[in-house]
Amino acid sequence: MARRKKIYEGKAKILYEGPEPGTIVQYFKDDATAFNAEKKDVIEGKGVLNNRLSEFFMTGLNGIGVPTHFLKRLNMREQLVRACEIVPLEVIVRNYAAGSMSKRLGIEEGTPLPRPIVEYCYKDDKLGDPLVTEEHIAAFGWASQQDMDDIVALALRVNDYMSGLMFGVGIRLVDFKIEIGRVFEGDFQRLIVADEISPDSMRLWDLETGQKLDKDVFRHDLGNLSDAYTEVARRLGVMPKQATHMAKPKLIN
Ligand code: C5P
Repeated sequence: MARRKKIYEGKAKILYEGPEPGTIVQYFKDDATAFNAEKKDVIEGKGVLNNRLSEFFMTGLNGIGVPTHFLKRLNMREQLVRACEIVPLEVIVRNYAAGSMSKRLGIEEGTPLPRPIVEYCYKDDKLGDPLVTEEHIAAFGWASQQDMDDIVALALRVNDYMSGLMFGVGIRLVDFKIEIGRVFEGDFQRLIVADEISPDSMRLWDLETGQKLDKDVFRHDLGNLSDAYTEVARRLGVMPKQATHMAKPKLIN
């Protein structure tokens, strides 16, 4: 088989040219990084879990009419996605104060916010993805006002969907980050949810115990990251086929 052409390698994923024009193969690595890659490790199985979880979340979003880049899962670590032009922003939605917002504003972690707050960071690793305002976004032409209206609407719909899904399995969605892609359909452009939706880019706390089930486990050495992600997958009923198969009780006749 011919070698696929690598388009881009990021911290947690590799993108390859897809089999048809307009498609990309997204490969999930086991690499975990935090604090702008100052902390690094390889967490066996993380890529498999994130591939499955991102498939699960994006399939659900597609199902309720929130457009995403996800087309289909190809194997344990790869999924086929629509090629898109990534808007150079990290779009963060927060329901409870945590992380950088708690630090920046001196609000205790876990404080409920009066309403979901949407923030933007400019995607630039060298600068450490700085927080920016809509003024910067408009002035530097990263997105138009119409794009921003669409981005907020998309982000809030993702928030409602993900919050409800997580609440149903006893997990609080504290905050999350998404990335947005532009696709061109004839003369029109559309914005879609791109990249990945996984515990790498969310804060998930057990509703009862407050236990962290997301990348903070790795960031702050709170335990085994793969166990935390497996617990999220187990509660959602998303397990690698092999594990589901293994977990099936034997029928006695
Ligand atoms: O660090 P901070 O509190 O700003 O992160 C907010 C949310 O965005 C967290 O869920 C975090 O995992 C996510 N995030 C991310 N990638 C970044 C920055 C933040 O996924 N580069």
